[in-house]
Amino acid sequence: MKRRQFLTGVGVAGAAAAASSLPKPAIAQAMPEVQWRCASSFPKSLDTIFGAAEVISKRVAAATDGKFQIRIFAAGEIVPAFSVLDAVKDGTVQMAHTAPYYFVGKDPTFAFDCAVPFGLNARMQNAWMYTGGGLELMREFYKGYNTIQFVAGNTGAQMGGWFRKEIKTVEDLKGLKFRIGGFAGQVLTKLGVVPQQIPGGDIYPSLEKGTIDAAEWVGPYDDEKLGFFKVAKFYHYPGWWEGGPQLSAYVNIAEWEKLPKSYQAIYEAACAEANGYMLAKYDSANPAALKRLVGQGVQLKPFPNAVMEACMKAAFELYDETAAKNENFKKVYTAWKAYREEAYLWFRVAENRFDNFVFTAGQAKPAAAPKKKS
Ligand code: CA
Repeated sequence: MKRRQFLTGVGVAGAAAAASSLPKPAIAQAMPEVQWRCASSFPKSLDTIFGAAEVISKRVAAATDGKFQIRIFAAGEIVPAFSVLDAVKDGTVQMAHTAPYYFVGKDPTFAFDCAVPFGLNARMQNAWMYTGGGLELMREFYKGYNTIQFVAGNTGAQMGGWFRKEIKTVEDLKGLKFRIGGFAGQVLTKLGVVPQQIPGGDIYPSLEKGTIDAAEWVGPYDDEKLGFFKVAKFYHYPGWWEGGPQLSAYVNIAEWEKLPKSYQAIYEAACAEANGYMLAKYDSANPAALKRLVGQGVQLKPFPNAVMEACMKAAFELYDETAAKNENFKKVYTAWKAYREEAYLWFRVAENRFDNFVFTAGQAKPAAAPKKKS
């Protein structure tokens, strides 16, 4: 034991001696101390969507020997959930982690960096962003906000949300006060819904008090944590307005340009890691949460086809109307729509057949043995 301690001691001393002979000034210059603040749009309780920003922060710190530190603040701690874009634009914080469709009130073009109703699933969104030209188009748009954005999370297809009364017909949407994120609110306005944009952490009290009639957030795992099942029993699906919503990391362009190239590369890789992590986390955590919710008496209900069809019609009318009056939107929409058509063409073949067959086959009860003809 003593001998081992002695040897370890020598090892440490030797390593220290070797380190002291390295050209320290060069290292210090290449790896400066950088401290960033990140404003998240999400509550700390959600290890999925808030957790993705922590993945970025931890990876960046680990890959720079702790030299590049990013401190994450939950929604409302230093910046309100829906003000994080302005905070990055103005340089109040160096970065934010958010759902870009929160900013469709400024410009509906933000939706393409997140989710457009009846748009892309998570796979297609990644494909469009990483290799289909989406990222370049959106970065051009974000320059107007002093921001460079990075793909940094995805929830996969979401649930349609929590309703006190079941939605059976298109008529049931009329006058419904519904907390819904993003561009979908504008689609549903066409069908008489009164959409409400409320940060995740503040939805429950509104639903409990009856200020709103229904609310959607993400899916079983997050929704269970936020407790919606206690005040609304009908859990509709799918969230047709977000088949694969992407989260983004926003960085102030001036702050980005100050970073050494190596930190930029590390940051970019960390965002890609967060993107994969978040989707995996949701896909792993949702099944058990769904079972627990059903065990609590939650009524799982698909949206009727007639409702989905009316919403889809309203959605594409809205896109055409928006494109006619907004050049930013028109430019991205034209490219996005063409990409969507191509993506659907391919996904309709192998993915669709595989998914439909295995999911249905897995659900079927074992067939009864055929009766022998007597
Ligand atoms: Ca949602």
